[in-house]
Amino acid sequence: MRKVQKTINQYKLFERNDIIAVGVSGGKDSVVLLDVMVKLQEKHPSKVIAISIDEGIEGYRQDGLKYATMAAERYGIEHYTFSFEEEFGHHLDDALVLLGSDRKPACSYCGPFRRKALNDAARKIGATKLVTGHNADDEAQTVLMNLMRGDLLKTLHSNPEPKFKHSSFVNRVKPFRKTTEQEIVLYANLNNLPYQEESCPHAVEAFRGHMKNILTEYMVHDPTVVFAIIRSSDALHHLGSLVGDTSPHKGNRVIKECIGCGDPCNGDFCGSCRIINEINSNIKNT
Ligand code: SF4
Ligand code: ZN
Repeated sequence: MRKVQKTINQYKLFERNDIIAVGVSGGKDSVVLLDVMVKLQEKHPSKVIAISIDEGIEGYRQDGLKYATMAAERYGIEHYTFSFEEEFGHHLDDALVLLGSDRKPACSYCGPFRRKALNDAARKIGATKLVTGHNADDEAQTVLMNLMRGDLLKTLHSNPEPKFKHSSFVNRVKPFRKTTEQEIVLYANLNNLPYQEESCPHAVEAFRGHMKNILTEYMVHDPTVVFAIIRSSDALHHLGSLVGDTSPHKGNRVIKECIGCGDPCNGDFCGSCRIINEINSNIKNT
């Protein structure tokens, strides 16, 4: 709890009277996150609401949602579930079929859809902050993924502080940025918090899995490597802000509004609308 509070202070994650939407999938990170946020929020004039996203993954998500519901009921807080089907017209499983056999790994579609669904859900319920359970290991993996895809600028632009301003965007914050997966599992077990233990059936396709393996192997020699990577990421972001390249209105980064949905994005369409366009063109061509 102290560690999370320290992260919250370091990155100035919350303000007084924030309405905090916590993304709860039912996995260990989000179940522990909800517990920690409810306990920390007791001392502050803010409100915590749980939101879940049903991606439509057969034999997996329904079980996770049960744990998410149990977690929200434990604290008697509001809990809203939104689905890919309502938001995008397709379950993830159906979308993957429509995208065809030469599609990218499932997470490349699920990730942008879920980010948008969470943002829209947070906006619909009037939240001022969206909290996700990304932990230190996830954050380090993301930095490595950006590096290996030749897209380290993404890390330079990803501000861990909630400073981005746009009418359709709810700032996303990650109180577990400095908390490891091991600590989260330990917290869940010590506090008897039940969570979904099965992994998503699509996780085997994920590029992230390779980064996880590399880090796990290296951590035998240096268990602090994830924190070193996060420090490098913070330094890179700081460097970007010094040269004026991380603000949406400064430097050579142009933030536009998506032609499809109006969300802020770098190109003509946001990631989700690009996927929807791809699905629609596949449907037209078959
Ligand atoms: Fe979605 Fe990939 Fe996570 Fe499965 S592992 S829920 S497909 S992002
Ligand atoms: Zn869009």
